[in-house]
Amino acid sequence: MTVRHPCRSDFPALLREFDGQTISYLDNAATTLKPRPVIQAVTEYYETNGANIHRGKHRLSEEASDAYEAARVVIARHLGAAANEVVLVRNTTEALNLVAAGLDLPPDAYVVGCLDAHHSQMLPWRRAGRLEMARVDAHGRIDREHFRALLRGRPRVVALTHCSNVTGVVHPVAELVAEVRAACDAVIVLDAAQSLPHRRVDVQELDVDFMAFSMHKMLGPTGVGVLFGRSAQLARLRPLSVGGGMVDWVDLDGSVDRRIPYTFEAGTPAIASIIGSAAAVRYLEAQDTPQQHQHAEELCAALVGGAVTRPGVRLIGPPDTTDRIALASLRLDDRIPTGEVARLLSDSYGCMVRSGHMCAQPLVSGTAGGEVLRVSAYLYNDVAEIEGFYQALDELLSWIA
Ligand code: PLP
Repeated sequence: MTVRHPCRSDFPALLREFDGQTISYLDNAATTLKPRPVIQAVTEYYETNGANIHRGKHRLSEEASDAYEAARVVIARHLGAAANEVVLVRNTTEALNLVAAGLDLPPDAYVVGCLDAHHSQMLPWRRAGRLEMARVDAHGRIDREHFRALLRGRPRVVALTHCSNVTGVVHPVAELVAEVRAACDAVIVLDAAQSLPHRRVDVQELDVDFMAFSMHKMLGPTGVGVLFGRSAQLARLRPLSVGGGMVDWVDLDGSVDRRIPYTFEAGTPAIASIIGSAAAVRYLEAQDTPQQHQHAEELCAALVGGAVTRPGVRLIGPPDTTDRIALASLRLDDRIPTGEVARLLSDSYGCMVRSGHMCAQPLVSGTAGGEVLRVSAYLYNDVAEIEGFYQALDELLSWIA
C-alpha cells in the first residue's frame, strides 16, 4: 500500500472522489488547497463574530479588529518586516497595480522587467511607463548580460519576478538586487507570488523596496494579497482607492488620510480571509522542516525526471532541479490540443493540472511556441501522484497518436 504524506488528512478537499476515484491535485501554482486550521479560523470568525473592523467601539468590532491586526503582525513577522510595512489588499495583481500606479511615474519613465513575468508584473508597468524586458535563456534563467545592459539606461523601477510560474526557476534575487543598487537608484519591486509558498523570504536580506504575494497560493483563503513596502517607499505611493476606512477626517474642503498602511486599505477588507491567513502562515511555518524540504526536492526531481525522459514531451524550463520549485510546464506535440489533454486527465484519471499560456504569454509563446500543460506540486502531494500523472499522460498520448 502507498504511504501518503501525513499532512494530507488536514486537507478535506483531498478526500474528494470523482466516479469512485480519489483526486490528484497538481494545480498548486494556480492556488493551493486549504488545511483545516485555515477553514476553522474563517468559520470561527463568521460563527462567533462577523462584525466589521476599525469602525465600531462595540466589543465584537474591537475583537474583529484585534484579530485582523494580529494577522497583519503574523504575516509581517513571517517576512522579517514591521507591521506598518504590510498592506493588505486583494491579491498580488492588486498589490503590483498599487505600486505601479501609486508611484505616479511620468509616462516615459524607463522600467526594466524580465521576460518571464506574469501578466500581473508586466501590464501594470507597461501602463505606467516604458517597459523593457530582460531576456531569459533557453532554460528560463535570466540573461545577466542583457539585464546589466538594460540597467545602464538607469531605470526608475526594476520589476523582478522571484520565481516563474511557467519554468519554476527561482531567480537569484539577492544578486540581481545588488546589481541594481550598484547601477542606479531604481525602486525594486518583487513579485514573490510563486516563491513565498515554497521558501521563506526575509525582506531585509533580499533588500527589495516592495514585494507582493497572494495568500491563496500558500494555503490561505482567496481574496488576500500582501504588499510589503519599506516605510519610506510606501510614503511615496498615492493610494489606488480612496473612500471610507482610509481617512481620519473629511470635511467639505478636503480630508486627512489615516497613517500607513491604512491609507492603502480603503473599504471593508476580506476580514475572515485575512484572519484565516494568519492560520495559513502558522501552518506553513510548522511545515518548515528538513523532512519537508527533502520531500519538496523529491517532488521536484520526480516532475523534472519524468519530463526529461519522456518522448513526445518538451520541458519548458531547466532540465535539472537546481533553484526551482516543484513545477513542470510541458509542451506536447503541436497537433495535440493541450486543453483537451488537461480535461481528459481530470475526467478519466482524477488528475487536476493546468493548461494554456499561464498568464505569461510572451514567455510561453516565445519558448514553447504554444500552450503548455503545467503540473505543480505542493507539500501534501506524493511522488506517487506525479508518477500517476505521467502514466496517465503516456496512456492518453498513446491513444491520441
Ligand atoms: N505573479 C505570479 C508569478 C503568479 O503566478 C500569479 C498567479 O498565478 C500572479 C502574479 C497573480 O496572482 P493573483 O492572481 O493572486 O493576483
